[in-house]
Amino acid sequence: MSIADPSIDEVPAIEVVLLGTGSPLPSPDRAGPATLVRAGEATLLVDCGRGVVMRLAAAGVVPPMLSAVLLTHLHSDHITDLNDVITTQWVMSPTSTSLPVYGPPGTAQVVGATLEMLRLDQRYRHDHHDDLQHPPDVVVTEVEPGATFEVAGAAVSVHRTDHRPVAPTVGYRVEHAGAAAALAGDSVPCDELDAMCAGADLYVQTVIREDLVRLVPSARLHDICDYHSTVEQAAATAARAGVGTLVLTHYVPPLQPGAEDEWRALASAHFDGPVVLGPDLTTASVPRAAPEG
Ligand SMILES: [Zn+2]
Ligand SMILES: [Zn+2]
Repeated sequence: MSIADPSIDEVPAIEVVLLGTGSPLPSPDRAGPATLVRAGEATLLVDCGRGVVMRLAAAGVVPPMLSAVLLTHLHSDHITDLNDVITTQWVMSPTSTSLPVYGPPGTAQVVGATLEMLRLDQRYRHDHHDDLQHPPDVVVTEVEPGATFEVAGAAVSVHRTDHRPVAPTVGYRVEHAGAAAALAGDSVPCDELDAMCAGADLYVQTVIREDLVRLVPSARLHDICDYHSTVEQAAATAARAGVGTLVLTHYVPPLQPGAEDEWRALASAHFDGPVVLGPDLTTASVPRAAPEG
């Protein structure tokens, strides 16, 4: 028998916070796609959609606290506020502090162009603040499927997803203290997605409601059905991969308050486990395993 240490028991092995559950479609109360992953010492930001820095603040995180940014792909709704993350991390850090950004090939181009866009702002601040003479220190690592790396004690692996014709796109599996979270980004079901999710405690999937999208007479809107998982497909992936909890985000169309059970029922027809969805800042976590003995 062992005596539990409450300071350990209360901290989850992994926690996922849906910072932004929106999509390119504007919503007054849903920020763009972004997810916070806390795993021990690691504070990871997956994608940087509209309003991400506000939602980070609501979750108790300011950009200098980020261990790394992980980008699933370079669609605008997933990167539109990367510039705000970069600038706020830079101006709030007391000394030059690197911001690691991982993403698929193309990420260096996006970050480079973002820094170029911000160059005038940097000059204004350099000119005004004697103690802010260093430039933003963004360290880009372009990753391919199969890559693995560690961030602040959390193990991260990179997996191919299928969001074609957008390519390359990747998902991330984050493991810490015996728990695993799979962050899929935008993808239709595929073998690589199943492999990334296999046995994960949490599986976060961006989803659309094809039945509702088809009601809108817009060819451009119908096109999104080609390369996103529906709620039902996400649930089927969760069942095939044997995940613990399915976490849905990136609701197209925006999930209306009161419709949560309707969305959940569509998933539960294909997956027996818990299905988490809701407003921005909805959280799912995996407790630490009880010590043996
Ligand atoms: Zn996308
Ligand atoms: Zn998207």
